[in-house]
Amino acid sequence: MSDNISVAGVSVDTRHWIGGRRIASAGSFADHSPIDGSLLGEIARGGPAEAEAAVAAARDAFPGWATTPRAERARILHAIADGVDKRIEELAIVETTDNGALLRSHRRGVMPRVAHNFRFFADWLLRLDHEDFETRGHTNHVSWDPAGPCVLITPWNAPLMLATWKVAPALAAGNTVVLKPAEWSPLTASLLADVAAEAGLPAGVLNVVQGYGSEIGDALTSHPDVRRISFTGSVPTAKRIAASAAANLTPLSLELGGKSPLLVFADADLDLAVDLAVEQYDNAGQVCLAATRLLVEEPVAEEFTRRFVEKVTALRQGDPRDEGTDIGPNIHPRQLEKIDGFVQRALAAGARAVIGGQRGDGQYYAPTLLTDVEQDWEIVQEEVFGPVLTLQTFAGEDEAERLANDTRFGLAATVATGDRERAERVTARLVAGTVWVNCFFVRDLQAPFGGSRQSGVGREGGTWSFDFYCDLKNTVTAP
Ligand code: NAD
Repeated sequence: MSDNISVAGVSVDTRHWIGGRRIASAGSFADHSPIDGSLLGEIARGGPAEAEAAVAAARDAFPGWATTPRAERARILHAIADGVDKRIEELAIVETTDNGALLRSHRRGVMPRVAHNFRFFADWLLRLDHEDFETRGHTNHVSWDPAGPCVLITPWNAPLMLATWKVAPALAAGNTVVLKPAEWSPLTASLLADVAAEAGLPAGVLNVVQGYGSEIGDALTSHPDVRRISFTGSVPTAKRIAASAAANLTPLSLELGGKSPLLVFADADLDLAVDLAVEQYDNAGQVCLAATRLLVEEPVAEEFTRRFVEKVTALRQGDPRDEGTDIGPNIHPRQLEKIDGFVQRALAAGARAVIGGQRGDGQYYAPTLLTDVEQDWEIVQEEVFGPVLTLQTFAGEDEAERLANDTRFGLAATVATGDRERAERVTARLVAGTVWVNCFFVRDLQAPFGGSRQSGVGREGGTWSFDFYCDLKNTVTAP
């Protein structure tokens, strides 16, 4: 196995990054590009031994990093952000080659946001202080103490963006990190290790281990020296991680799947509502927040569907490296199987494909809209994680709310209406971590982010991230 591979001309180290050194493994796993199925390289396949080494490195580096003055930690995080900015082109093309998401959004949206993750949490750290307060002449001083080594486990649909959304606040808080990226998109995490080292992050503060979750995951999440586990991924994996973490009562933050609704009321700006619906095919539908259930008020359903089909037909599906492409491939042949399984079972049960309903060439799935579905069907209740939407109609706010809330998820919801008062009434009744009114995907890093019900446990973002990654301590001093 060669230690470095060239991906679109960028050299990527395929080994782990532990204690400031590149470490190989005896085994490897193959990493393929979803664009054409080509083999990108063999990646180090870690297991319990690598997990142990990485946690040990994080534990050893913790006292030094935790006591590094905040201003110095913030300076290094800014240097990491600068390093990301310098490498935006490289990071963007490697990510696109590895996970198939659009190059133009990696270039202009995602990678600048990766840099912003570091700057934002570095700056937020410096403002993080509670006022002291008094109790019968005694002062209370609340401090945000670093918690210790953190295990961060991330998915493939937005690899570096989701990883740094955890890495940045964990490091800012004074913690050390073991990052385990998804095995279907392992490459940019390795580049992040390079960027962090160049920025002067001390050895062992950030460690990156590669491998299958089932092989390296348990050893990481059940480790007694790990003080926090933050996981973004699917509900079944989250349940396994929660069980593993229970051995040490390690605090968990879980950002999981969704089956979010887009409610379109008859008084909505219909063009806007259609645009919001079409946006749900972004990243080939592989977005946790995607509003995959279109709920449309009866009087406008026909016109909405007509305009929606017109717009979707104009979308260009193809190579994600081309500027003109709107929808790229899906991540993996197994994911494609899963998507098609959902669609074919729904069609067999009587659903109607208004558009799509089948695979395209290679690893592409045709953007699909299914109607004539029932609320208790799998296609309405389960997360597909592909370019597949359902459309149901409703009459009035009560039915809209009933349908919207009737799943085991509660990640997000979007409401399209021209009536502000209706928006307030409806959003108050929705079960969701984020609700957008007449917009979608507007995200501020200071807002709490997470899901209700089985969409997650806890919130991250702004102060909420530091709530999770710190041990809060109250010191009471006598007069
Ligand atoms: P997944 O649960 O299969 O894997 C996620 C990560 O967990 C991977 O790194 C994997 O290797 C690791 N893993 C697997 N088994 C493990 C174990 N036993 N112990 C420790 N780690 C283990 O999820 P996925 O298919 O990579 O990602 C898609 C899912 O992620 C979807 O459900 C999507 O909605 C969700 N997601 C949620 C958010 C959010 O912010 N709420 C964001 C993006 C994706």
